[in-house]
Amino acid sequence: PVRTRFAPSPTGFLHLGGARTALYSWAYARHFGGTFVLRIEDTDLERSTPEAVQAILDGMKWLGLNHDEGPFYQMQRMDRYREVVAQMLQDGTAYHCYSSPEEVEAMRERMRAAGEKPRYDGTWRPEEGKALPPVPADRKPVVRFKNPLDGEVSWNDVVKGTITIANKELDDLVIARPDGTPTYNFCVAVDDWDMGITHVLRGDDHVNNTPRQINILRAIGAPLPEYGHLPMILGSDGQKLSKRHGAVSVMEYPAQGYLPEAMLNYLARLGWSHGDDEVFSMQQFCEWFNLEHLTASAAQFNNEKLAWLNNHWIKQADNARLAELAKPKLLADGAQFDGAPELATVLGLLKERTNTINELADAAMLFYRQPQPDAALMTQHFTDAVKPVLAQFAERIATVEWSKEAISAMMKEVLAANGLKMPQLAMPLRLMITGQLQTPAIDAVLQLFGRETVSARLAKYL
Ligand code: GLU
Repeated sequence: PVRTRFAPSPTGFLHLGGARTALYSWAYARHFGGTFVLRIEDTDLERSTPEAVQAILDGMKWLGLNHDEGPFYQMQRMDRYREVVAQMLQDGTAYHCYSSPEEVEAMRERMRAAGEKPRYDGTWRPEEGKALPPVPADRKPVVRFKNPLDGEVSWNDVVKGTITIANKELDDLVIARPDGTPTYNFCVAVDDWDMGITHVLRGDDHVNNTPRQINILRAIGAPLPEYGHLPMILGSDGQKLSKRHGAVSVMEYPAQGYLPEAMLNYLARLGWSHGDDEVFSMQQFCEWFNLEHLTASAAQFNNEKLAWLNNHWIKQADNARLAELAKPKLLADGAQFDGAPELATVLGLLKERTNTINELADAAMLFYRQPQPDAALMTQHFTDAVKPVLAQFAERIATVEWSKEAISAMMKEVLAANGLKMPQLAMPLRLMITGQLQTPAIDAVLQLFGRETVSARLAKYL
C-alpha cells in the first residue's frame, strides 16, 4: 500500500513550494487509496514555533489536504530515536566518537589545505584489528554513523532520474549529539521507516540528504522508499520566489480572495502535466496524478494564470458560498444589508468578471450603500431632454411586472415614444440608483434593487 508524507519544519508559514509538495504527496496517496501522513519536523528548537505549526495546519486545512495519520511531532519521538541509536551502537553500524569540536575542525582544516573534501578522519571509527585511542576523561561522545567507505549510493529519482553519489563523498554523519539528542537526517530516516513511507516527495533542496538517509535506512534494515525531488518554484522573472513576487505564504491567498480550488488547480499544474489540461477538480487530479509526468525543470509562478483560474473557480462556485466569503469585506467597507438585494444573487450577477473574492466584494458594494452621484456627471447625463422621459419611466414602474424582461421592454417603449436611445435613459438611471456609471446590465440592476427602492431613489430627482 502506498504511504506518503508531508514533513514540514515549523519555522515559518506554509509557503507555496511546501503546499505543492503536500498536494502531490496527498494526491499520490489518494490515487492509490493509500495513506497520507503529516509529520512536523520540530527538532530545531531555536527556529520552530507553535505559531508556525498552526500556520501549517491552517494552510493544509484551507487547501483541504487532509492527513490520514498524524500530525506526528519529532520532539515527541525522542525515546524512539535514542532506542535506534542504542541498537545501532550495539550492531556496530554507529560508534562513539570522542573527538572534540576543535579536533574535528582541525582535521577538516588539514584536509582543506591538502585539497581534499573535508570530512571526519575516522579516528574513533572501529575497524577490525584497529586500536582506538584512550577515552578522554570528562568528555561526552557524539554518536557517528559508520558510513560505508567504498561503493556508491544510487537511486532512481522519480523526478530527476538516476542519481549516484560515491560513498567516499559522504561523511560519518553525527547521528546523536553529546547530550544524546538525535540529528536531522537520522530522525528523518527513522521516521520514514517507522511510518512505513513508500514514496518521499520533497523539494530538491533535500537531494544532498538522500544518500545519507538511504545509507542509514540500509544500516537499520529498513526498506527504501521511492524518492522524488521537486524543483523549486521560481518567480515570474526566473529568480527564486520571494516576497517581491507577491505572496509566498499560502494563507495570504484566502486573505486576497482566492479560492482553494484555484490554488490547488494552479499548484497541480506547476510541476506536473496531463496533456493540455489546465482546469480540473481535485477529484480529477487524484485520478490522473502519477509520478510519470512530473516536470524536472523549475516552474515559474505566474500570478495572471492563478487569477484566471480563480475567475474560473469563482464562476463555478455556489453563490451562497461566495456570499459567505465576500461578506466580511463588505461589512468592513460599511455595507448596509437592510432592505438591499440578497448578496448571493448580486454576486451571481457579478461573478463572471471578477478574479478574486475581494474584487467581487468591491463590485457588489454598489448595492449596499446610498448612491452619491457626482454632480458634474449628473449634469452631463440628466439633461432636459431626459427629464420628461424619466418621469414617464418612473410612473410606469409602479405597475410594470417586476421581471428583467418586462422592465427592459417597458424602457424600450418609453424610449421609442420619445425618440431617445437606451444609454440616454440608462446612464442617468445608473447614477441615481447606484451612484456610478459602471454597473451590470441596467434591467438586471433595477430588478435586483426592487420596485420600492428604485421608486424612492428616483423620487429625489422628480
Ligand atoms: N522538514 C523538511 C523541510 O521542511 C522536509 C523533509 C523531508 O521532506 O524529508 O524542508
